[in-house]
Amino acid sequence: MKISDILKSKDFLISFEFFPPKKEENEHILFETISKLKPYNPDFVSITYGAGGSTREKTAYWTKHIKEDFGLNVMMHLTCVAATAEEISENLKMLEENGIKNILALRGDPPKDFPEDKIKKDFKYAYELVRFIKSKNDFSIGVAGYPEGHLESPNLNKDIEYLKMKVDSGADFVVTQLFFDNRYFYDFIDRAIKHNINVPILPGIMPITNINQVIRFTQMCGATVPESLVQSMADKSEEYMFEVGVEYCIKQCADLKKHGCKGLHFYTLNKSEATKMVLEGLK
Ligand code: FAD
Repeated sequence: MKISDILKSKDFLISFEFFPPKKEENEHILFETISKLKPYNPDFVSITYGAGGSTREKTAYWTKHIKEDFGLNVMMHLTCVAATAEEISENLKMLEENGIKNILALRGDPPKDFPEDKIKKDFKYAYELVRFIKSKNDFSIGVAGYPEGHLESPNLNKDIEYLKMKVDSGADFVVTQLFFDNRYFYDFIDRAIKHNINVPILPGIMPITNINQVIRFTQMCGATVPESLVQSMADKSEEYMFEVGVEYCIKQCADLKKHGCKGLHFYTLNKSEATKMVLEGLK
């Protein structure tokens, strides 16, 4: 089912993001995670895509299998930085053949040391990919938004102007980068409204279960980790960090719900426990 249609008929959506496991021996972990999260009735689940194109087959495999084996509504991420228009068209054909209705259209980041000649010239930015998909096919299209601004953006205003270009090119909804302080999200929504961005915006949520891992991760995506959390978790046990992180995330999500957000998109990192506990805590 198209996410755009669900967004029209429901006030609040739950979704889970997974990545295709690199190693075959980790595949059962993802199957278990999905089995444990399925009872929470996600409105959709999404599968990430390696921007270098090397995991393309795996993303396609998991997209198909999660739909078929679990009967879940799936959104496939699709990046364009290292793809030709022809390759994108092949992907779209595969999705259509498999009854997948939803795409998260992204530019992607080329992997470090990615050979210059593999950066294709057909698409420079995600809005061009959105326009391309929209002109050819009938998908519901999501795009990425950045409450704290994208790392390459000169400023927050430019960042939101570029988001507006993605929406004007045909995006139906926005899924945000993870953030831990809701003020960034509320300011982002205000900027979006001022720029006439009228599509639903789903906040990206990641329960912190290990502060060192999150600090490494956020250095790559530019999200700010609140100093109070860093202090409270410093040098503490895994169990303690998990407990504090889940508690923090429940409060964060409850506040987002109170402010009328359209849903919660969980970056699960292919693990179920923290997401489950947050959803239980919100009941
Ligand atoms: P764009 O919207 O093209 O923006 C990229 C940069 O260019 C930004 O700084 C923007 O401000 C600037 N820009 C945009 N348009 C213009 C313009 N017209 N002129 C000048 N500058 C412009 N990466 C993956 O590789 N695989 C994934 O599966 C994946 N999933 C993601 C899911 C979510 C929810 C999010 C938030 C991110 C995800 N990413 C993924 C990361 C994403 O690919 C990177 O953040 C990437 O750097 C930007 O992608 P984008 O689609 O936002 O690009």
